Amino acid sequence: MNLQKIREEFPILAQKAYGKPIVYLDNGATTQKPQTVLDTLVRMYAEQNANIHRGVHFLSEQATEAYENARRTVRDFLNAALSQEIIFTSGATAAINLVAFSYGERYVKAGDEIIVSLMEHHSNIVPWQMMCERKGALLRVIPISDSGELLTEEYGKLLSSKTRLVAVTHVSNTLGTVNPVKELVRMAHNAGAHVLVDGAQSVQHIPVDVQDLACDFFAFSGHKLYGPTGIGVLYGRKELLDELPPWQGGGDMVDCVRFERTTYNELPFKFEAGTANYIDAVGLESAIRYLLSVGMKDIVDHEQALTRYALERLRQINGIRLFGTAKHRVGTFSLLLDGIHPYDAGMILDKMGIAVRTGTHCTQPLMQRYGIEGTLRASLALYNTFDEIDALCAGLEKAQKILKT
Ligand code: PMP
Repeated sequence: MNLQKIREEFPILAQKAYGKPIVYLDNGATTQKPQTVLDTLVRMYAEQNANIHRGVHFLSEQATEAYENARRTVRDFLNAALSQEIIFTSGATAAINLVAFSYGERYVKAGDEIIVSLMEHHSNIVPWQMMCERKGALLRVIPISDSGELLTEEYGKLLSSKTRLVAVTHVSNTLGTVNPVKELVRMAHNAGAHVLVDGAQSVQHIPVDVQDLACDFFAFSGHKLYGPTGIGVLYGRKELLDELPPWQGGGDMVDCVRFERTTYNELPFKFEAGTANYIDAVGLESAIRYLLSVGMKDIVDHEQALTRYALERLRQINGIRLFGTAKHRVGTFSLLLDGIHPYDAGMILDKMGIAVRTGTHCTQPLMQRYGIEGTLRASLALYNTFDEIDALCAGLEKAQKILKT
C-alpha cells in the first residue's frame, strides 16, 4: 500500500489549518473523500442527472441504471445474497429508525423485550426506546467490562423467550471495541430473537460478510466510508423485510394507489419512499470501489499497525487514561489527561492543526458507566500515518505543559 499516493488522492489532506498541515484524526465522525468520489458526484450531476425509476427517457434510464448498479455493488460489498436486501437510506440513523418502526409495528407487543448494549451510539438506543414506548416493550442493556468489552455471559442471561430483537454495534465509536457479533447473533437466534448490527464504525475498518455474521439487519452510513453524506444502507434478510410494513409513504414505494386501499411496491422500493438519493448512492458505490482497489486486507493491516503503534506511544504519556482496551479493536482512542478538560486539550491540538473530537461522542450512557463527562477521541482512517500519531502524542504532551498548573 503506497501511503503517499493514497494521501495525494484525498485533496483535503493537502490543505492547511492555521498554516500547519492538517492532521485529520476525526474519522469516526466522518471520513475525507478521495478525488474519484468527488469526480463521480460531479459526473453524475453533469452527465447523468434525471429522476430515476419514473422516466422513459435516456437520462432517466441512465441514472436508474447507475443507481441499481450501486445497489449491486453494495450487495457484493456486504456479501448479501440479493440486491433486494439492500435499501438505500439517508444514513445509519435512518436505517435503524426504519427497522425500529417497521419491525416494531409487525413483531413487537406489550411485555416484549429489546436488547441493546451499554456502548451503543444514541442512534442505536433512542429509536428502540421510542419503539418500546409505542409498544409497551422493555429495553434491556448488555453491560460491559472496564476494558470496554461486552459481558457475553450477562448477555446470555438477558436473552429469553420475551426477547424480540437485539440491536448491537459491530464496532464501538467511542472505545474502538470490535464486538463478537457472530457469536451474539448465534446466541440471539438460539433464543428466537432477531439481530440488527450497527455497522457505522465497522465497514470502513474490517471486511463484513452479512451472511457469515448471519445477522438479520445491518446498517451503515456512506460518509464514514469515504463516501458522500446523506446516503446510507440498510441490509435486511428478504424473508423478514417482506413481512415488514413500509416506514414512510410516498412516491416509488407504491404499487397501486386508490383512496380505498393502496398496495405497496416490492423490495427494496417498498422502503424507499420519494426521490431516492441516487447521486450519492452512486458516490457511495465509487467509495466502495475505491476501498476495494486499495484492498481491504491492506487497509486492515495498515490500520492495525497504526493502532498498535498509537497504543504503545499513547501509553508512554504520563497521566493519560485510555478508555477501551479491548483485545479486538480498531484505531479509535478515547482518552483523558489527568486534571485537564478534554475540550481544552482539543483546542490546543486544533491550533496545532490536529483534528480530534471531544465530548460524549453520542454515547452518554457509556460516559455514565465510566463516571466521566466526556473524552478526547482520536480516530484513524486508511490515510493516516505514523508521523501523525507522533504529532498527536506531541500535541497531548504540549497540552499537558500548557494546561497543567
Ligand atoms: N452508530 C454508530 C456506532 C456511529 O458511530 C454513528 C455515527 N457517529 C451512527 C450510528 C450514526 O450515523 P449517522 O449519523 O451517519 O446516521
